[in-house]
Amino acid sequence: MRREVKPQTKASEIGMNFEDKVVIVTGASSGIGESCVKKLLNFNARVAGFDMKPSKITSENYNHYMADVRDEGSVKKAVDDVDSGFGRIDATVNCAGIFSNSKPFYDMSFEEWDRVISTNLTGTFLCSKHIARKMIKNKKGKIVNISCIRSMIFKPNMTDYSASKGGVVALTSAMALDLAPFGIQVNSVAPGFTFTGMTENAFSNPEVRSSSEKIIPLGRIAESDDIANVALFLLSDLSNYITGETIFVDGGFRIWK
Ligand code: NAD
Repeated sequence: MRREVKPQTKASEIGMNFEDKVVIVTGASSGIGESCVKKLLNFNARVAGFDMKPSKITSENYNHYMADVRDEGSVKKAVDDVDSGFGRIDATVNCAGIFSNSKPFYDMSFEEWDRVISTNLTGTFLCSKHIARKMIKNKKGKIVNISCIRSMIFKPNMTDYSASKGGVVALTSAMALDLAPFGIQVNSVAPGFTFTGMTENAFSNPEVRSSSEKIIPLGRIAESDDIANVALFLLSDLSNYITGETIFVDGGFRIWK
C-alpha cells in the first residue's frame, strides 16, 4: 500500500529549528564565524558572538562580546555573561583562528608556535570547557569545532597550523567521549580553501586562485557559507546521532591525488 508523503517545507519540520536557541559563535566578526552568525539569526536563534574585533552585525537577537579565546579569564567572563544574560547556552561554534607564520619548524620561535597553538587549539579547549560546564546542567548541547584540511593533508612550513588543527580533530573526539554521558555532542568541520578575511590576500590574486582551483575536484574555492551550512547541520537536530566526527568540506581536495 502506498502512503502519501506530505511535502515538509518549514525549517522546524525538517529539524532546523533554532527558535529561541542560544548559540555562541567565536571568531564571529569575520569569515566563516560571521557567516554562521548570519545563518543562525535567519533561523531565529539568539546568538552571542565572541571576537577580539567588533562586529558589523546589528540584530536584536545578537550580542557581541569582546573576548580573547587564548585568555581563560576573558572566556569565562564572556560565557558567564551569556549564561546569565540569555538564561542558557544550547550550542557553540568554535571558529576563532589564525593562520601560521609559514616557516620551517626549526626556524620557529616558541612565541610564534605558541601564538597559533594557543589561539586554534587552546582557545577551542578553553571555550569548550566553560561552555560545556553550563551545558552539563541542561543535559543537552552541541559543540562544533572548526579544524582544517591541513590536519590531514600536509604542506611544508605549516607545522604550527597543522598541529593546532590536528589537535582540534583529536580534541573533538576526546571531548565527545567525556560529554556523551550528558547528552552533549561534539563534532568538527574541516574546511578546505575558503575565501575569507584570512585568505583574501592570497585568493584575490588570480594566479593563486586558479592554481588552487585546479587541485579541487569541484573546481572552486569555497565561500564562507559553504562551511557554515555544514556547521549548521551539526548544530541542528538533523545530526542528533553523530558525535566525535570531523566532516571534511573541501570540494573533494582530500580524496584527489
Ligand atoms: P577570518 O580571519 O576571516 O576570521 C577569524 C576570526 O577569528 C576573526 O574575526 C578574528 O578576529 C578572530 N580571532 C582570531 N584570534 C582570536 C582570538 N584570540 N580571540 C577571539 N577571536 C579571535 O578567518 P576564517 O577563514 O573565517 O577562519 C575561521 C576558522 O576557519 C579558523 O579556525 C580557520 O583556521 C579555519 N579555516 C579557514 C580556512 C580558510 O581557507 N579560510 C580553511 C580551513 C580552516
